[in-house]
Amino acid sequence: MRCPFCGNPDTQVKDSRPAEDGNVIRRRRQCPSCSARFTTFERVQLRELTVVKTSGRRVPFAREKLNRSIQLSIQKRNIEPDRIEQMISGIVRRLESSGESDIPSDRVGELVMDALKNLDTVAYVRYASVYKDFHKVEDFREFIKDEHLSGDNSGDSNTDVHGDGEGEARDR
Ligand SMILES: [Zn+2]
Repeated sequence: MRCPFCGNPDTQVKDSRPAEDGNVIRRRRQCPSCSARFTTFERVQLRELTVVKTSGRRVPFAREKLNRSIQLSIQKRNIEPDRIEQMISGIVRRLESSGESDIPSDRVGELVMDALKNLDTVAYVRYASVYKDFHKVEDFREFIKDEHLSGDNSGDSNTDVHGDGEGEARDR
């Protein structure tokens, strides 16, 4: 594989190991010319997918593009990178096994929304704001209301109300 830093046509594999439960092979590579290191991923691809935009424009489906749009919505959220990888793999697998090679971009957006909804409320709202093109605060408010999002189901509700046992032995 060509070196992305200096363009040298060949690079060496230094380390190769399975990741994501064996669904991926991760390879660490090094360029013999400029010594730069980088990582490549080998994944199963069941079929070639084409994303059809609402404008009718057709572009080849790219996992990396999907990843970038998701990364924007999860910035500074405390989410394990592995969970995101698994989520993306799940979305890609669903698209690949849908039987269609042409995928409307809306369909991709819906799958991401579904996945994020279960993962992190803030990321979900952020993604929705881009995907649904929110323009003003009202749009967020409406969305959160319609979706019945209370904002405390993102795993950070750690109010520990055990008390200290007082009041349990309350004699009458
Ligand atoms: Zn190089």
